Amino acid sequence: MPINRIKPFKDNLKKGLVYLISTPIGNIDDISKRAIDTLNSLDIVLAEDTRNSSILFKRIGVNPKKLISCFSYKEEELANKILNEVKLNNLTIGLVSDAGTPGISDPGAILVKKAIELNIPVSAILGPSAFIQGLILSGFNTANFSFYGFLPTKEQERERVLSNLVNKEETLIFYEAPHRLIKTIQSMQKVFKDRRCLICRELSKIYEEYIRGSLDELVNLDPSSLIGEFVIVIEGNNSASNQYDDEKIIQMAKLMLDEGISKSTCCKIIVNLTNLKKNYIYDLINKL
Ligand code: SAM
Repeated sequence: MPINRIKPFKDNLKKGLVYLISTPIGNIDDISKRAIDTLNSLDIVLAEDTRNSSILFKRIGVNPKKLISCFSYKEEELANKILNEVKLNNLTIGLVSDAGTPGISDPGAILVKKAIELNIPVSAILGPSAFIQGLILSGFNTANFSFYGFLPTKEQERERVLSNLVNKEETLIFYEAPHRLIKTIQSMQKVFKDRRCLICRELSKIYEEYIRGSLDELVNLDPSSLIGEFVIVIEGNNSASNQYDDEKIIQMAKLMLDEGISKSTCCKIIVNLTNLKKNYIYDLINKL
């Protein structure tokens, strides 16, 4: 693919554009003036759920020329159709989701991918996104982080996904539905043990709350006090690099082997203690 450079402002691109537009995640005053102006100027507004967006638009004074629903399951089909119209008639369109930033656990990514394929310029009018607020207020490493959105709903699958993240040194961020929060915190505690965690509740709303503690402590939260929307932020694994270097692991393994403990049991104990990968520990023990 040849290099493609687009400057929406410098080239004064007013038509034939696709915008992703953020909307509030709770507090309506978080809508930007640019978002309102742009929404009022678009030929077509795509909304994840037109019923929800219509309520918002009424309150912020947005009167879309044309409003079309774009639920996740029909994003691909709609993107193909709408983007052809954009090209044919030089239209400018925008997508809003029910709350926050489109494309973040919400429709948006497919529309952007297809627009790029069709050489249609894309831009964004940014605003709130729940995971950014959780990250910047976590007190954990904000330079390196990974956002995973929603975890699988089945316990076994969820714990398998989490196990693969145990050695990650960057901050880990997740979304969770209210009725699954406690179960997810329990899975996280099983995998990450006593790792530090921040649970953000109802960001930018009246019951906004930050619950900090170790996962060992947070599993005991009273479920009846956990109502609303949540972001979960977990501190990265500092122990993997600091507390247990190769030399320490070899020392531990030697002590255990000298006491007659088998290689496999020794490996199991060290994996449990360090949260490091089984194969990695096995290789170290086998070198002895
Ligand atoms: N696009 C949105 C964004 O940019 O944050 C996320 C949409 S996703 C379908 C909805 C999830 O985001 C919720 O289940 C919750 O985990 C998180 N979320 C959204 N608003 C929130 C809020 N006000 N407080 C805490 N979490 C929120």
